[in-house]
Amino acid sequence: MTGLADNRPDGTPTGGDARRLAELAANLATVRARIEAACAAAGRPPAEVELIAVTKTFPASDIVALSRLGIVDIGENTDQEAGPKVAACALAGLEPRWHFVGQLQVNKTGHVASYAHMVHSVDRLRLVEALGRRAVAAGRVISCLVQVSLDSTVRGSTGPHRGGAAPERVSELAAAIAAEPGLALAGVMAVPPLGEPARPAYARLRWIAAAVRAAFPQAAAISAGMSADLEPAIAEGATHVRIGTALLGGRRPFVR
Ligand SMILES: *Cc1c(COP(=O)(O)O)cnc(C)c1O
Repeated sequence: MTGLADNRPDGTPTGGDARRLAELAANLATVRARIEAACAAAGRPPAEVELIAVTKTFPASDIVALSRLGIVDIGENTDQEAGPKVAACALAGLEPRWHFVGQLQVNKTGHVASYAHMVHSVDRLRLVEALGRRAVAAGRVISCLVQVSLDSTVRGSTGPHRGGAAPERVSELAAAIAAEPGLALAGVMAVPPLGEPARPAYARLRWIAAAVRAAFPQAAAISAGMSADLEPAIAEGATHVRIGTALLGGRRPFVR
């Protein structure tokens, strides 16, 4: 495991591994305490909220360290970056559950279907069809969330937003996912809208999630909440929080 452990992009020397592990352990304790407090405030059991460590821009050695700390759910936002880390972790004997949380291009679905446990960012029919076909070819069933755009200004138009289907398209997408043998509809996901408080946006997501769940009772997941806003997300029913910065630290360009 030495090769993996030595590849910090900032060149941290041997011995830095132990320091990094301690740093991650401290961050994890803080994040877990925040989740517990948010759950207590919302009257929810903490076991209802799954913590996904979003490791984008951080090296595979951090995933190894996180797994030593008991983290089994790892999020990445591009296939280009996830691919080598999936391979590196497999070499180290690790098989975390990989969550694909970024915007997904149709031409990457083949590779993503080979490792993703859950794709959080399904936001168009073409993606459903491509991912479904690739999952069947890979002999896998991939959990999928419909990514909802909470940006009240773009509403599914061509504006500069961060992915996500307009709320009025969500039921159609959910039905399409549910109809694919290689895909399992698991719920909905959103990123908080820019320039708007998170809580009312997550309240809208909660209503959309309830509508999806009314039609598909197994689709109970709500993936919402990042480092800055996990509390309002949990208050509005999040079942999966996607935490990067608060666990791993500030992101810098990832040099391979
Ligand atoms: C990077 C990322 C996160 C984590 O964000 P932090 O603010 O660093 O916690 C969550 N979700 C998605 C889709 C991301 O791309």
